[in-house]
Amino acid sequence: MKIIMLGAPGAGKGTQAKMLSEKYDIPHISTGDIFRGNIKAGTELGRKAKEYMDAGALVPDELTVDLVMDRIGQSDCEKGYILDGFPRTMNQAQKLSEALAAAGDIDVAVNVDVPDEAIVERMSGRRVCPSCGASYHVVNIPTKKPGICDRCGASVIQREDDRAETVLKRLSVYHEQTQPLIDYYKEMGREVDIDGTQPMESVFAEIVRKLGD
Ligand code: AMP
Repeated sequence: MKIIMLGAPGAGKGTQAKMLSEKYDIPHISTGDIFRGNIKAGTELGRKAKEYMDAGALVPDELTVDLVMDRIGQSDCEKGYILDGFPRTMNQAQKLSEALAAAGDIDVAVNVDVPDEAIVERMSGRRVCPSCGASYHVVNIPTKKPGICDRCGASVIQREDDRAETVLKRLSVYHEQTQPLIDYYKEMGREVDIDGTQPMESVFAEIVRKLGD
């Protein structure tokens, strides 16, 4: 099954994608994680991507599209995959459709719908572990010891791009560039809407119900 996750930044796509990846036993491919991995490793791609990410802008398609096309061509993607954070522009969606033309495009676009006010509240409280990638929220999913990752003991941090002004910028980029993809996949008859304001487990249950076991 080839799944893409749509929804605003902070809608919970990443969390759901991880859970779906385990349930369906297919890789979870997050472009944001790939860029952050490159930043951490100090690569040329990471250096270029960081500039855009810190400003709340999208990384240019030239740096993004080939990366994803290479990744989905790898052998562990034969049974399918979950794309989290890609496509994010109409051009990226069209490139993906072209690449998958023979296979008949993706199977389903899961749109995790959360209103802007809730997104701002969630993202400003989000904390991540720079060491193992675990994700928390100061109110909704707090660490057991303040500021310390439950899983690996490292200090959790706020992502640079989760700061208030950057969140507002990312939301406007989302509405302008990514939201139109909902209609693109709707017209293809492959889009499902999910109420992302529910608790994490209920969101997951709704997705699985709509995808079928
Ligand atoms: P995410 O972790 O998905 O919220 O992505 C974090 C940041 O990485 C975004 O705000 C963008 O700057 C960049 N990014 C991730 N995926 C893409 C993409 N498909 N196209 C362009 N930029 C992306």
